[in-house]
Amino acid sequence: MSEPSLVAPRRATRTIHVGRVVVGGTAPISVQSMTNTPTADIGATGRQIDLLDRAGADIVRVSCPDMDAAQAMGTLVRNARVPLIADIHFDYRLALEALNQGVQGLRINPGNIGSKYRVQEVVQAARDRGVSIRIGVNAGSLEKELLARYGEPTPQAMVDSALGHIRILEELDFREIKISLKASSVGMTVAAYRLLAEQVDYPLHLGITEAGGLLPGAVKSSIGLGLLLAEGIGDTLRVSLTADPVEEVRVGFEILKALRLRTHGVNIISCPTCSRQEFNVIDVVARLEQQLAHIREPVALSVIGCVVNGPGEAKETAIGLVGGGQGSHLLYRDGRPCGKINASELVDRLVTEVEQVAATMRHDQQELTGS
Ligand code: SF4
Repeated sequence: MSEPSLVAPRRATRTIHVGRVVVGGTAPISVQSMTNTPTADIGATGRQIDLLDRAGADIVRVSCPDMDAAQAMGTLVRNARVPLIADIHFDYRLALEALNQGVQGLRINPGNIGSKYRVQEVVQAARDRGVSIRIGVNAGSLEKELLARYGEPTPQAMVDSALGHIRILEELDFREIKISLKASSVGMTVAAYRLLAEQVDYPLHLGITEAGGLLPGAVKSSIGLGLLLAEGIGDTLRVSLTADPVEEVRVGFEILKALRLRTHGVNIISCPTCSRQEFNVIDVVARLEQQLAHIREPVALSVIGCVVNGPGEAKETAIGLVGGGQGSHLLYRDGRPCGKINASELVDRLVTEVEQVAATMRHDQQELTGS
């Protein structure tokens, strides 16, 4: 089934690199998250990075609030399969140490680290290592002068802050930059990104900050990031949630999938359920989401409670399940009925079917790329 695109042509930007991940230009919009374990606890932080990688995160950010954390980055980088960004505030020595430890990206605001000499040192070290820098403007921590000029955080104040940091890096001829302009207000965030998008050609990192728990945060992020992405603005994103960081990755991909900007993992199409359902759709879908979280290939799976909508949806998906009578449900492959499944084996059978389809896709992709 073809559907009209919701999305305007992507804004033209420079490309930068975070390790092997290209950000900007026509590169896929990357999904980021951030660890919340004590960074110096290498075991716990490494495990969380691994979980985020398995969930599909393209880039993981790790905060470095002190020297122990910055020194832990070397081991974390060596063990991680995804590039790591060190998140630094104020202390240029932590940035130098994190760079020395091999991080692939820095999040630091050059205007906040003091003398020009310090900025020069950090920029030179980043340049020497091919490391990009994200300027991260946050409405909650704008410079005093800007607050005095505008009276309160405004989109223009956020943009002015970003332009100030950008100027510092450009004066040092450093352009491996991406920028974020985060506020907890969806309206302020969207307005700020729109303004900045007209003024610079650097890639933009999207996010609504302090968005709340899983449900409110996912809704706010979907609206804010969705509006911007639909206008072609945004090259990488983080959904900030007061929740397990793995959920941030899941929500990020769901936003991109809904806009057809990226395919990732199993796309489960399921009905909202009603008294006609022939099996417990909510329970089955929850178990499938959990057991199929490791699949990266874009497999479409429909799970529909009865024959009212089931066959129609099953025609559009690689694998379909339609609730039938007497505990015997219909399995579809490539839009055609191909057998029955008992209630007791629903989840196991669907997981096996999806894994088979994913393995075939993986194999075909490897043939195509010769890898
Ligand atoms: Fe109800 Fe069937 Fe519609 Fe699901 S597909 S909501 S079970 S009528």
